[in-house]
Amino acid sequence: MALEQEKSLAVPAAALDDVVVAMAEGIFGGPGEVGRHFSGVQLRSVDMSDPVLLADSTIGADVVMVTLQPLRAAHVRALAPSVRVIGRAGVGLDTIDLDAAKAAGITVINQPAYGVTEVASHAVAMLLALQRRLGSLDAFVREGWTGPAPLSPMKALDELVVGLIGLGRIGRATAQMLTGMVGRVIAYDPAFPPLPHGVEWASDIGSLLGCSDVVSLHVPLMPETQSMVDAGFLAAMMPGALLVNVSRGGLVDEDALASALESGQVGGAGLDVFGVEPLPLSSRLMDAPNTLLSPHCAAYSERSTWRLMSWTLEDTVSWVRWRTVEHGNIVVVGDR
Ligand code: NAD
Repeated sequence: MALEQEKSLAVPAAALDDVVVAMAEGIFGGPGEVGRHFSGVQLRSVDMSDPVLLADSTIGADVVMVTLQPLRAAHVRALAPSVRVIGRAGVGLDTIDLDAAKAAGITVINQPAYGVTEVASHAVAMLLALQRRLGSLDAFVREGWTGPAPLSPMKALDELVVGLIGLGRIGRATAQMLTGMVGRVIAYDPAFPPLPHGVEWASDIGSLLGCSDVVSLHVPLMPETQSMVDAGFLAAMMPGALLVNVSRGGLVDEDALASALESGQVGGAGLDVFGVEPLPLSSRLMDAPNTLLSPHCAAYSERSTWRLMSWTLEDTVSWVRWRTVEHGNIVVVGDR
């Protein structure tokens, strides 16, 4: 749907009146910008980094709206008793202590659908750029175009086996973009969701790693998936295979990845997300060969930005007014 067509509200404008929303500092251009579209809502900007500040600055707020700002247990417990709902403007829930929200009776709503096409296409773009060695070839031209171009090793696209770990919304969209483009798409997901046409199951991660020219991660960061890409995982990849991660930095042991890239065991990496963001200049990944880095922006488009802002606001207001949600997922149902 065209962006301008989408800019009509799913809740009656009057419903917005008098709902007080405390927004994490800096998100969506701040209260002034958001207020241009949602004039009835009372918006305020809040520093989410400090639980003490949060306690005071959320007094009277119905909604707290965050993107990637962490809401650990101390932050959640510090929220004023008026706060009934946390609107996570995004997908990943690793930044919010859901147990603390449940214990406090606060509802948590996230937005899994706002940027699926964008994230999947970012993964595919990284895969294609790495596979065609575009970073090295661009540098080669700029550095004088002398001697042999850094072309090798390079398979044809339709020879590639791509292994997707995680076949939820984004993994599935990535699979749909890749089938018909690459040789084979295989996937591993312990939940075994319905398989998109043209995709095959791998029985486990080991068998996926043993035959994939490219491995792309599409799993949430949870205690079970923290550092799942460790030295053993990287050693089990085919020599020279590529790794793409547009999910969460914490899935990858970055030191082990840097070593594998330096040794050539991993032939290249496309990374949108990092254990620490912004990625420190001292990170070994900065100098790793055949590595493309982007600043946690895989979900970005003007449409997804509008969706994320408007859907989060509409759903949280709608929850406060009627305990219903139009766009997102209710992750925790609170009794406040
Ligand atoms: P989803 O919940 O729809 O799918 C996740 C899938 O991973 C599920 O099917 C689940 O069964 C599977 N899974 C869980 N543990 C697994 C494991 N150990 N091995 C294999 N599969 C496993 O989530 P989604 O909407 O597809 O999003 C995936 C992740 O993408 C999010 O959790 C988020 O961290 C990340 N994300 C990143 C950006 C970005 O800007 N870079 C934007 C949106 C989402």
